[in-house]
Amino acid sequence: MTPLAVFEPGTVWLAGAGPGDPGLLTLLAAKGLAEADVILYDALVDEAVLAMASPKAQLEFVGKRAGVKSLKQPEITARMVQHARAGKKVLRLKGGDPFVFGRGGEEAIALAQARIPFRIIPGVTAGIGGLAYASIPATHRDINNVVSFVTGRDSTGELPGNIDWDALATSSPVIVFYMALKTMPEIAQKLIKAGRAPSTPLAVISNATAASQDVVETTLGECAATLSQTEPGRPAIIAIGESVKIRGLLKGFQQTISESPDVIKAEETAP
Ligand code: SAH
Repeated sequence: MTPLAVFEPGTVWLAGAGPGDPGLLTLLAAKGLAEADVILYDALVDEAVLAMASPKAQLEFVGKRAGVKSLKQPEITARMVQHARAGKKVLRLKGGDPFVFGRGGEEAIALAQARIPFRIIPGVTAGIGGLAYASIPATHRDINNVVSFVTGRDSTGELPGNIDWDALATSSPVIVFYMALKTMPEIAQKLIKAGRAPSTPLAVISNATAASQDVVETTLGECAATLSQTEPGRPAIIAIGESVKIRGLLKGFQQTISESPDVIKAEETAP
C-alpha cells in the first residue's frame, strides 16, 4: 500500500469523523487519531471514534452542548493556531465531512491566514452515509439525476431566507435536509406550495450509522404531525423523494451496525 501522508509537528489535520460508525473513518482520520498530540473535537463526533485516540493525546471538547457555554469560532481557531505554533500535531475533528455544513472552510481560511500548514481530510457526510445506512440511495437511475443538500437553519437558527423554494421543489427529485427538525413543518409547506405532492415520501434518520440509529417514514404532507408525535432523536437528517421507497426493498436484508456479527459477538461475551 502507498504510505499515508506524514502527520508533521506544527500542522493541523482538519478531518471528518463521519456520521458515527467508526468503520466509516478514512485511513487518514484513523492515523490522525492514533498520532495527534492534541484533538479538538465537536459534539457530533461519536464516542466510539474518540475511543480510537492515542491515550497520550490531549482531548479538547470545543463543541456546543446544551447548558454549557460553548467556544466561539474565533476561539476555536485561536486554539488550533496556538497548539500548531507550539509544535503539536493538531487533529481538528468534525462530525461527517468538514466542508459540508461544518464551518471547515472558515477554519481552513483562518489557518491559511495564520500561515499554518494544514491538510483537509474529507469524511462521510451524514447526508450520504446516513441515507445509505437507512437503505436510501442518494441517487437512483430511475428516480433522480439531481440530489440537493440543504440546511434547515442559518446562523440565527431560523430557516435560511435565500433559498429558492420553487426551483428546489421542481429541479431536485431528492432533497436531503441537515439541521431541519425544527423548521421542517415550514419547509414542507413551502415545498407543497411550490408544487411537490403532499404524498412525497419522507424519512427522518436519527443518529444515523450509530447503534442507536432510528428511521421514521412519513410523507411531506404528514411530516409536521409525525414529527410532533414521534419526537425523533437528534441529530437527524431528513430525506425527501421517491428513493425513500427503495428502503422498503432493502431494509429486511441490509445489516446495520448493531446487527454486524462482530458487534453481536461482543455483546454476547460481555460480562
Ligand atoms: N459536517 C456534518 C454536518 C454538520 S451540520 C456532515 O457532513 O455530516 C449538523 C447536522 O448534520 C445535524 O443537524 C444533522 O442534520 C446532520 N447529522 C450529522 N451527523 C448525523 C447523524 N449521525 N445522524 C443524523 N444526522 C446527522
